[in-house]
Amino acid sequence: MPEKVQAPRGTFDVLPDDGRARLRLLELSEAIFGRANYGPIETPVFEATELFERGVGETTDVVEKEMFTFDDQGGRSLTLRPEGTASVCRAYVEHGMHKAAQPVKVWYWGPFFRYEAPQAGRYRQFTQVGVEALGSDDPSLDAESILLLAELLELAGARGIRFRVSSLGTAATRRAYSDELREHLRAREDQLSDDVLGRLDRNPLRAFDSDHPGTQAALRDAPRLLDRLAPDDAEHFAEVRLLLDDAGLEYELDGTLVRGLDYYTRTVFEVESTELGAQSALGGGGRYDGLVELLGGPATPGVGWAAGVERILLAAKEPVEPARPSVFVALADGAAAAAAFALARDLRSRGVATELEQAGRSLKGQMKHADRLGAAHVVIVGESIEIKDMASGEQHAVATMEDAVAELA
Ligand code: AMP
Repeated sequence: MPEKVQAPRGTFDVLPDDGRARLRLLELSEAIFGRANYGPIETPVFEATELFERGVGETTDVVEKEMFTFDDQGGRSLTLRPEGTASVCRAYVEHGMHKAAQPVKVWYWGPFFRYEAPQAGRYRQFTQVGVEALGSDDPSLDAESILLLAELLELAGARGIRFRVSSLGTAATRRAYSDELREHLRAREDQLSDDVLGRLDRNPLRAFDSDHPGTQAALRDAPRLLDRLAPDDAEHFAEVRLLLDDAGLEYELDGTLVRGLDYYTRTVFEVESTELGAQSALGGGGRYDGLVELLGGPATPGVGWAAGVERILLAAKEPVEPARPSVFVALADGAAAAAAFALARDLRSRGVATELEQAGRSLKGQMKHADRLGAAHVVIVGESIEIKDMASGEQHAVATMEDAVAELA
């Protein structure tokens, strides 16, 4: 016997019950984002590697360690997308969307790829849903973005939701703060993890992402970026918070929030679920006012987020209702197969969920199968046509197929 071929590590198959739950979440996303005038956007699953090197940042974990990168037959370096914002910004520039009325608001849903150690809730191919609003730095867009995520999680039934919000200021503020933090950490070098020490020159802020006890101790009395914001950034953040407070969103102000990707400026946020284990992050995002320019476009502010579809569903754990056909078309004898097939097509075309016998069972076996599927009615097609009500057990004959359709549709 040939050996079984298995799916690659860190990937998963979506079987029909999960597939239905995912489709419901997709429809919910469409409804929520559509109401706020965000339009659907799709970008390629692979992009030029340079897009992520420039857009996400070369010193980030995502770019340094986690990208699936390959050369195509023409020798171009391509990468399976690890995140969506850089692609949306590229598309914005490529299609001249800066010339359209601003802000441009889009949402997306699709597969993303990161070479991470697989565990519960962490995969190498996963699905993200996200929104982006480009072309305005109005604080109401930051608030709107966060509130759309909160609404999606609430209506999806995700439990144990906790938002954390902060502001990183502008790139210049962050640079000055990085120098200050680097100095603080240099003075405590012997406490730091090798990883943090290795990145201290290039990106000291990433120390806040570390769960290494020595690093955490060294950070305890470190200066906070939130206290270093320039006046207009502090004011921008105050306005965002005012709108969130007015909307009644509960969140924690967390000055240690730095986010894993380099492109953020001003508002940043993350949301987690206390219902999930180690992989508790449901989603996150923020403002990225320099990103479009970094990718060769005009200076354009933007704000958005991405959330993990698999993790939202894990946090919701809604029982999935099995799909039930309303009608099961049974065959009293094989000669009725074509007529039964036509009847099922007719019922389906009228919107009736219909299943029919396609596995050669005996009539008794078919009735058992229809019962297991949860069909409300069975039509038994043979020399006569009978309709059985599965709940009451009542059964009666009808004269023609048209009569059966009229009764059931
Ligand atoms: P990030 O862009 O890293 O903030 O990711 C946004 C969200 O995507 C996270 O909060 C997770 O819910 C989800 N996510 C990121 N990486 C993975 C992964 N490897 N497996 C499953 N979900 C992920």
